[in-house]
Amino acid sequence: MIAYIGLGSNLNNPKKQIKNAVLALDAGEDLQVTGLSSLYQSPPLDGSNQPDYLNAICRINTHLTALELLYFCQRIEENQHRIREKKWGARTIDLDIILYGAQVVASKQLVIPHPEMMNRAFVLLPLAEIEADLKVPVLGKISDLIDKLNDFKLQKL
Ligand code: AMP
Repeated sequence: MIAYIGLGSNLNNPKKQIKNAVLALDAGEDLQVTGLSSLYQSPPLDGSNQPDYLNAICRINTHLTALELLYFCQRIEENQHRIREKKWGARTIDLDIILYGAQVVASKQLVIPHPEMMNRAFVLLPLAEIEADLKVPVLGKISDLIDKLNDFKLQKL
């Protein structure tokens, strides 16, 4: 199965946090990282006074189920000492499953495609960078989703 993982960090050397998470993903059993976007920098979504975020998207190949993949991502977050103070709080590393093949999942634990992906420039632009012709299940062409984005502040590093 081909899946796309969103990575984000704004604490404790975000560049290194993202690199370490990609290495940890690739070290997983039954999982290879097959693509990685550039890093993208953006201010916090809630406009609060915390450091800018760095985000990237990686493409993986895996035999894990979507739920197994979620648990694996959560283990990586825990290993990197993610600080989860509040929903929009600063974080050392956040891993989200953006897409899992063409599967549509809507359970208590897992929603795929990621429910916020269409609103987030820091997901759509790096995703388009590694998969320009992607057709997102339910939501349509990635290029159309990017066209529909409202104003955003995002800098490709
Ligand atoms: P967050 O604060 O963004 O890390 O959200 C974590 C929670 O979102 C976890 O409890 C997950 O079960 C849930 N979740 C739902 N859909 C997803 C998804 N596609 N990727 C990652 N977490 C998800």
